[in-house]
Formats: sequence, C-alpha cells, structure tokens
Amino acid sequence: MIYLDHAAATPVSEKVLKAMIPFMTDNFFNPSSAYLPAVRVRGAYEEAKNTIANFIGAKGNDLVITSGATEANALAFTAVSKTGKILVLETEHASVLENVKKYNSKTVKVDRTGLIDLIDLKEKIDDNVELVSVSLANNELGTIQPLAEVSQILKEIRLDRLKRGVTTQLLLHSDASQGIALLELNVARLGVDLMSLNAAKVCGPKGVGALYVGHGVRLNPITLGGGQERGLRAGTENVAGTVGFATALGAIKDHSSATRKKYTTLVENLKNELIKARVEPIFLGNSKHQLANFLPVCFPGLDAERLIFKLEEKEVYVSTGAACSASKGEPSHVLRAIGLTDKEITGSLRISLGVLNNEDNIKEAGRIIRETVNDEYRRING
Ligand code: PLP
Repeated sequence: MIYLDHAAATPVSEKVLKAMIPFMTDNFFNPSSAYLPAVRVRGAYEEAKNTIANFIGAKGNDLVITSGATEANALAFTAVSKTGKILVLETEHASVLENVKKYNSKTVKVDRTGLIDLIDLKEKIDDNVELVSVSLANNELGTIQPLAEVSQILKEIRLDRLKRGVTTQLLLHSDASQGIALLELNVARLGVDLMSLNAAKVCGPKGVGALYVGHGVRLNPITLGGGQERGLRAGTENVAGTVGFATALGAIKDHSSATRKKYTTLVENLKNELIKARVEPIFLGNSKHQLANFLPVCFPGLDAERLIFKLEEKEVYVSTGAACSASKGEPSHVLRAIGLTDKEITGSLRISLGVLNNEDNIKEAGRIIRETVNDEYRRING
C-alpha cells in the first residue's frame, strides 16, 4: 500500500510501542497508589509530562493530559465565563467548531489560501471577547497561521482595555494538532495562553493529547472525581499513552528540519507528476505558509469520492478532507470558507505525507494518481 493520509493518523513507531508496553504490563500500577512501585510509575508519568512540556517550552505542571485534541479543545474553552464570547477561525477542526456552540461564539474569516483575515479578527474583538482560537496549521490545507501576529494584536487590545478600565480577560488558544512534528513550537514565542496537542499525529498513540495551560488561566474541569491533573481532569492517568507521546516527541526533536526538507522535495516530486494529468490540478493552500507534508489538490470536474475509491483499489490511500467530516459525507466547510465552488470542492483531495513515504513510493503514487485521474477524465469526457 501507499499511505498518503498522515494528517488523519500515523503509525505508532516501534520505539514508542516499546516504551509504552511496560506501563501496561510489569509497571501497571496506579500512579496515585502509595507503595513504591506505584510511586515509580508516578515518577515516569511526571517525567513524560515534562518531556512533552519541554517540547513546547513549558513545564510538566503546565499540562493537562487528555484523551486527545478534541478533549483538550473542549477543556480550553472552559476558560470563558458565562457572559464571555469566543472567536474562532471558520476553518477550524470540527472539535473546535462544535465545542464553541455551547458558548457565545463567532467565526473569523480566512483568505483564499486559508490564512486568517487579521482585519476581520480586529473588527470582531469587542469587549466581551474572552478567547480567540486559531489553529497552528489547518488540518485540510496545511496553512500555517501567523500566531505570533495574532498574539501581538491581542496584546495591544489587552493594553487598550486596561487603559479604558475594562477587566475582561483576552486569551489566545491554538489547536496544534497538525504541524507539531514540523514546526518549532514555543508557547512564549507564539504568545499562546492555551495550546492543544495530539499524540496521534506524531507516531504516538491515538486517544492521547494534552492541553497547555498558561499561568493565571483558570479552567473549569470537564470531569470531576479523584482530583488528578491538579483537579482539572479527574480520572486515572493514562501512563502508557503519556509515555508513548513523550517518546514520539523525543524522536521528532532530532529530525525536524531534515524532515521538513525531505517532505518539501517529495511534495514537489508529486506535484510534478500530477501536473502531467489530463485535468489540470489546482494546488490549494498557501505555498509560503504551508506544512511541508501537505498537498491539498483540486481536479476540477472530477469526483474526489470516486477517485478515492479508484485509488483504494490500487492500495493508494488519500482523503477528501478531515477524516471525521468525510465520514459525515458533508462538503468540507474549510474548502467552502476559502471560496471554492461546489464543483471544485467535489474534485478536491487531501494528500498528506509522512513517515511511510519515500522517494520511490511517492514516484509510484504520482504515477497511479495521474493514471487514475486520466481514467476518470476519459470516463466523463469519452
Ligand atoms: N484538531 C485537529 C486540527 C485535528 O486534525 C484533529 C484530528 O484529526 C483533532 C483536533 C481531533 O483530535 P482527536 O481525534 O485526537 O481528539
């Protein structure tokens, strides 16, 4: 098979699996128990949290380990009061858009490449806005948002509020599920108060994530019980998953810039194959601010669902968009937000490269996708 959907899921590496197994077998103890073997497990858990936190320039105590990015996003929004408002990008992942429905929320526009419209953002921040949520990189386009610029805007608005005696908080949250493997992440430099992380996208286990919580940010726990995670997320800690996440991040730290280069070349090779197809592809997203492993592409006039099916027969796996919205069968809200027509949305694929790709299988994938596109073109046009 040739797997080209790393934005949806990544394989757990051998190293990660090896690190996790002891915490499900010999060291199965509950980290809250008092006896020595359990205390050792607690130590390993805290060490893993520190490793994850260090990856983003934070401390273990600043993190709440969650069951993934969906939960981390939901927990982040609890920072907002009953009267507060949330602004989110219209292209955010469903876990952001669905969770903010519980609050007074509005969306901020993006341009045709998926980049945040900073003017629209500024205009929409009234004195009731308590939180702005902007993903690090979009999960369908790979467009990387200028978080530091957003943070600077919020800083200026905070100062202005202070001068006017307005005491409403103004927090910046970022869902960093995508891009964590390829971008240098530092919470202070990015100026975020809350950041969601996702192990499943970096060759760690599924169902494990974390929320970075900046100093002074107050959250309301979603689960109550044994008081774990400083009372912010009750429930026995997922020690194996957390150790797995830390190990996965440890592997990334060594390779990040080399990996970026590798994907840039592979994506370029793939593009060069696709432009030879009988349907001229439109490459989506922002070529200057895009995750190196992303290749969102539209073949106008074709049906991407059919393409996926035809490619699947040849064991090439791509997607039409976020795995979750694709399963609902709805047209992508992301592609709609960047102004694609229904016909263009119907013809759009998301190709995302990763650890399972190399020069050879990308060359092969390019040939297979090109031939499949040509077959579909012939079927439609005779
Ligand atoms: N946010 C983004 C940007 C994602 O890509 C995903 C996963 O696809 C999620 C959130 C949800 O993550 P999880 O399924 O781990 O809760």
